[in-house]
Amino acid sequence: MTVSDADREICAAAWTGPGHEPGAIAPPVFQTSLFAKDSFAELARQQAAEHENFVYSRGTNPTVAFLERQLALLERGEAAKCFGSGMGAIGAVFGALLRSGDHVLFVNNVYGPTLELARHLERFGVEHTVVTDPGADVASHLRENTALVYVESPGTMLMRLVDLRALTAAARRRGVLTAIDNTWATPLFQKPLELGVDLVVHSLTKYVGGHSDVVGGAVVGSAGLVREVFYRGHQLFGAVMSAMEASLVLRGLRTLPVRMEQHQENALRVVDHLQAHAAIAAVHHPYAAPGPDDDLVRSQLTGFSGLLSLELRDGSFEAVSRFVDALRVFRIGVSWGGYESLVSSPVRADNADRLAADGLPPGLVRLSVGLEGSRVQLADLDRALAAV
Ligand SMILES: *Cc1c(COP(=O)(O)O)cnc(C)c1O
Repeated sequence: MTVSDADREICAAAWTGPGHEPGAIAPPVFQTSLFAKDSFAELARQQAAEHENFVYSRGTNPTVAFLERQLALLERGEAAKCFGSGMGAIGAVFGALLRSGDHVLFVNNVYGPTLELARHLERFGVEHTVVTDPGADVASHLRENTALVYVESPGTMLMRLVDLRALTAAARRRGVLTAIDNTWATPLFQKPLELGVDLVVHSLTKYVGGHSDVVGGAVVGSAGLVREVFYRGHQLFGAVMSAMEASLVLRGLRTLPVRMEQHQENALRVVDHLQAHAAIAAVHHPYAAPGPDDDLVRSQLTGFSGLLSLELRDGSFEAVSRFVDALRVFRIGVSWGGYESLVSSPVRADNADRLAADGLPPGLVRLSVGLEGSRVQLADLDRALAAV
């Protein structure tokens, strides 16, 4: 599946912000903490609407604002706000929209630190429940005080899909806001706002940055919601993206369409190859066939990224270690979505019970399929599987 021409144009768009030498092809980096004004009256006027004026770089900055505009366009949202990390964006959503007494419903396997933050928020009087079954009936889990339904689709680790139209319809009937972590699919391969989700969050550290040299996050949605997140979540908690980091993410955006198509091509080869391998019990990726999610795949995703997981038949910690340590092209490390292939695993010598409680199978290994090329990737995987 390919990236749309409209999205290619957005990724390649020329700078439209202030003060640039005509013809300079790269966006300027506004490396400044503040913006002096011509008069006191002008400063007062702009400070009264800081979300749309350049006053201070903890609020807005032209380089960051250009990235925000392109991300809003890609997600088909009215507005976006960038953050110093994905967790900065997620924390700002919770910090801005929740209050003591509220309940948050998490649906599907959700990124670990997001759930850790939810547990931390209990001390501020915000409670939550986690429903890891992606097919669960959301309406039956809503409470009187549910203020937010937070979903990942495809979900962390097992990449299972949630029916986003059904989820948002159920939440909307009860007047409950919805948010999704869209990092896996990127704005190119899934547009949750068009499926009824209120807010999209991203870790820009992954595919959008794409070069493993920048940490960043974003929130996209309606102008009203993003403004709330800006004033309460961004300005007050201060997880700011710098102009330099924004320029690195913009550099990533330029090649996002071709990178995603290549990640997809390489990942699908890896999925096909692994599914046919005797040492592998299962492969988890929305493309892995035949899957119960096939209809959802067609109706929600317009492409596949390169993050997948596999289950070794021998699920022991020792077997996982032998496999991971034998890989050469797939480097051992956290994170994903960069040009380089990576491998990691939640399996430890002593956590089988914990994994089972989280609904994760034994022998689970996560691969981020990078851009090195299928021949070397498949050869590397074969060598490591032989070592198991
Ligand atoms: C990495 C990640 C985050 C957090 O992003 P950071 O930029 O590391 O703070 C959130 N959600 C998902 C799915 C991630 O993979």
